[in-house]
Amino acid sequence: MRISDLPKPVTASKADWLAGTNWLGFTPVDGSASARAKCQSTINRQFGNGYVIEYITESFSAPNPGFENDPQMLEERKNHAELAGRFIAVHRLLNSPRPLHEIIGGEEFSCLQDQWAKPGKRHRWSVAFPITESYLVKGRPKAKEILGEESYGRLYGHPSATLRPLSNDDRAPIAQLELEKLPAPNAWIGIEDDFEKAERSEIDPRTRKLIDHDLPAFAIEGMTAERWGKVRLRASWLADTFIRQRHKAGTLNCDDCEFDPARRSDLQGIGPRSLLDLHHKAPLEEGVRGTTTADFALLCPTCHRITHARLRLNVAGSA
Ligand SMILES: [Zn+2]
Ligand SMILES: [Zn+2]
Repeated sequence: MRISDLPKPVTASKADWLAGTNWLGFTPVDGSASARAKCQSTINRQFGNGYVIEYITESFSAPNPGFENDPQMLEERKNHAELAGRFIAVHRLLNSPRPLHEIIGGEEFSCLQDQWAKPGKRHRWSVAFPITESYLVKGRPKAKEILGEESYGRLYGHPSATLRPLSNDDRAPIAQLELEKLPAPNAWIGIEDDFEKAERSEIDPRTRKLIDHDLPAFAIEGMTAERWGKVRLRASWLADTFIRQRHKAGTLNCDDCEFDPARRSDLQGIGPRSLLDLHHKAPLEEGVRGTTTADFALLCPTCHRITHARLRLNVAGSA
């Protein structure tokens, strides 16, 4: 796939000297809660509802005294040399209120500060956005060659503690870059945040039944039964949201054959919703990535049966 195939535009770029794999961090002006909140809202406004393209800076920062020969730092410096000046990845970020020490743990946070924070300012990268969807930019092209000298200088020619918002002109040349999906272990953080909302809301029991039918009954490999229970409840809550959106949009019809209960004149007293099934299109992706309302479909009972019969045939065919 290419950048232009993503469901949302790439709205901003992050310049980093270390590649972020699980989170992207930003340093607020000081360690106070208000500085953190301000930094978080600025970054969130910059990426909005879009993706962020990660660029690796030409230079590599010097670590604090005592870390000059740290083996991990030396390894990172070596990796940096290969990536300098290149576009390396595209990420979707979650605007989560969790500070970095909660995402990576207190011990790792402490190590990072020892190594990279300025003396007395132990809040480096403390505003962190978990990466919930991630793609490698194939071939890791040089940003200057893709953007041209002028845009490149404008975007990356100065230091900045925030993101670099992209204009339509900046977006055009990157649209054709090829992507390859990467795992995003922090997708779980977004799922957990949603789970709390799901627990507080009322979910239509019919929705739950249909979703439970589509999702495997037992936890997939590497996931505890407790976590799987949360994933299932969140999926039902998302599905309910999906139906409400369709209701509001006036599109309660079958997504396959376009059967529309509202067009039949003999259904007085029968709700259109009761004639349509809810179907989960990517049940095996649940808990692995941050699924959205786009992962559901409304189907008439016949199309729903056909869909499941096909799925069974495919599973049997591939075994
Ligand atoms: Zn149908
Ligand atoms: Zn189904």
